[in-house]
Amino acid sequence: MNIIIFGPPGAGKGTQAKNLVSKLKNFQVSTGDILRDEIKNNTEIGKKIINNMNEGKFVDDQIVNKLLENIIFDNDKKNKLIFDGYPRTINQAKNLEKLLNRSNQKIDHIFFLNVNKDSIVKRIEKRKVLEKRSDDDAETILKRYDNYMEVTKPVLDYYLKNPNFHEIDGSMKIPDISKKIEGILNV
Ligand code: AMP
Repeated sequence: MNIIIFGPPGAGKGTQAKNLVSKLKNFQVSTGDILRDEIKNNTEIGKKIINNMNEGKFVDDQIVNKLLENIIFDNDKKNKLIFDGYPRTINQAKNLEKLLNRSNQKIDHIFFLNVNKDSIVKRIEKRKVLEKRSDDDAETILKRYDNYMEVTKPVLDYYLKNPNFHEIDGSMKIPDISKKIEGILNV
């Protein structure tokens, strides 16, 4: 089963993806984590993306799409993918569909965690204290939210027609969101 967890920054995508990983023994595909690792390891890609990431801007589609390709064609992970933070643009959504088709896979479920702007700002301010992410300061959060509304939210239209599209109230407590998702997946 391949699943997309979709939503604004701070919606709880990573938390819910990790919960599903432990339930289903699937693999979390967090492009944010993958990109942060590139920076931490000071790779060529890391050097190219550090400024954009720190400023809350998206990393170039070409770079993210390429990193994703290796994961989709990894046989050990086939049909066990939980996407968190990808796709974020229409180009990425089309790329994902193309790569999944080529590897005889599909998206089985899409969960949209819907949370309003005020809750997001509060949550990310808390996360900054815990995780010390350089892109979690107040000004950058707002920029990331605006990017989401402008570039990522239109990706929802791409998935709305899918019979396995589920909108979840992301302002609920974490365990309640997990229960709702697990109920839909019957796990
Ligand atoms: P996240 O951990 O998902 O909140 O992502 C943190 C940052 O990584 C984002 O603000 C972007 O700079 C970058 N990023 C993560 N995923 C993507 C993606 N799919 N496309 C472009 N940039 C991304």
